[in-house]
Amino acid sequence: MTKETESKINNSDISLSELIFHFREKCKICAHHRIMHNELGVCEGVMNKPCTSGCDGFEAE
Ligand SMILES: [Zn+2]
Ligand SMILES: [Zn+2]
Repeated sequence: MTKETESKINNSDISLSELIFHFREKCKICAHHRIMHNELGVCEGVMNKPCTSGCDGFEAE
């Protein structure tokens, strides 16, 4: 995380633990965490394993 991002988080109402909790939510479609989905909602998979579900929109479990 860059210093700039860090200060943005510090200046917002959201705490780091809330953010982490948010990104750890699992997807109902592919069962990957929200963090694996890009800004468009498309799942990019875990590490070097691409997501095989073809999930293109995060949906919280
Ligand atoms: Zn996925
Ligand atoms: Zn998904």
